[in-house]
Amino acid sequence: MISERISAARELLTELQIDALMVTSEPNRRRLSGFTGPDHGPDELGALILIDATSARLLTGSNELEWARGEINGLEAAAWGRPWTTSIIETAKERGWSRVGFEDRSLIVADFARMRDAEGAPTLVPLGSALDDLRAKKDSGEAATLRKAFAITDAVFEQALNWIPDRPAEIELARRIEQAFREAGADGPSFTTIVASGPHAARPHHRVSQRRPEPGEPIIIDMGAQVEGYAADLTRTVWVGEPAPKLRAVYNAVLAAQAVAFDAIRPGASGAAIDQAVRDASAAAGFAEAVIHSVGHGVGLRVHEAPSLSIHADQVLAPGHVVTVEPGLYFPGWGGVRIEDVVLVTSDGFELLSHAPKAW
Ligand code: ZN
Ligand code: ZN
Repeated sequence: MISERISAARELLTELQIDALMVTSEPNRRRLSGFTGPDHGPDELGALILIDATSARLLTGSNELEWARGEINGLEAAAWGRPWTTSIIETAKERGWSRVGFEDRSLIVADFARMRDAEGAPTLVPLGSALDDLRAKKDSGEAATLRKAFAITDAVFEQALNWIPDRPAEIELARRIEQAFREAGADGPSFTTIVASGPHAARPHHRVSQRRPEPGEPIIIDMGAQVEGYAADLTRTVWVGEPAPKLRAVYNAVLAAQAVAFDAIRPGASGAAIDQAVRDASAAAGFAEAVIHSVGHGVGLRVHEAPSLSIHADQVLAPGHVVTVEPGLYFPGWGGVRIEDVVLVTSDGFELLSHAPKAW
C-alpha cells in the first residue's frame, strides 16, 4: 500500500516539473512511510521524507532511527544532520536536484528561509494542497481502519446513552467517553470530546465544564475514537427526559437538512452545492440565521482535512473521499442541535461509516 502511495506522490514530479518532493507534515509523512513518530512541537520537526524518481528516504533524529526503521515500509531511513535543513541542501547537491517541492501549508517559515538562503540551494517549489488532495482519497486499507474507528465510536456512544439519565456533568461524561475509547482498543480520542448542555450547545466548539444538563434541554456530544492514527468524528444531540417543544422542532429541522445532504452526495457532486442545498433547507424551515458553519469536512489522519463541504469549496467529491455530514442550528442563550455522520464516497454513491442511533 505504501509503495502505491509513494508512486502516486511521484507522479507530482512530472506534473509540477520538480526533481524531488520534501514531505514534512505529520499526516503525509505517516501515510507515505508508516513511521508514527510525531513532531516534538509545532516548531520542531519529528521526521521528513525525500522522494525523487528513483528513491524514497526518511530522515529523522539519530535517537529515533531505530524506531523509524522498525516501522517504515519500502523506504530507507537515515539520521539527519543539525540543523536538519543542511541535510536537505547536501542531498540536493549530491543528487543534482534543481527544483524541490515542499509543503508550504506546514513548513515553518524560518526553516524555509534557511534552506532558500543556503549556498547552492535548489529552487523550493510550493506543493500547495497536492499531497493533501492525495491523502483525501483513502485506499482500501485506510477505509478498513476508519471502519474500525467508527465501530468503536458507535459502541461507546451507545454505552454513553446509559449514563445520560444520571445527568452527569459535561466534564464527567467526556472523561468517561474518552476512557471507554481506550478500553475498547482505540489509541484514544481523536480530538477533545465536546459535551455541551443547554445554552452551551449554542457553541459549536464548546469546552466542557462542570454544568449538569437540565431535563428537556439539548446535550450535544461530539466525539471520536482514533485507531492507528485515523480519526472518527460523530455528533449526536440527546436530552434527559422529554425534549422541550423547541428542541423537538429544531432537531427535526437538522435531521431534514442532513437528509438533503445525503441525497446530494455522490462522485462528481460539488462540496459548495451540497452546503448550499443544506443552507437552503434550513432557511426554508425558518432557521437561516441559525446556520453558522458549513456542513462537512474530510476526515482521516487529521480530524479536519480535504475535501470540504462548504460554500467556499472548489472541489468535487470522488470515490475514496471521506466526509462528515454535520448540519447544525444554533441559538445563543438557548442552545443548539448538531447531528454528524460520516460517509465514504464510493463509485456509485456512498457508504455510511457511522451507525450510532438517532432516535431513542
Ligand atoms: Zn465532530
Ligand atoms: Zn466534524
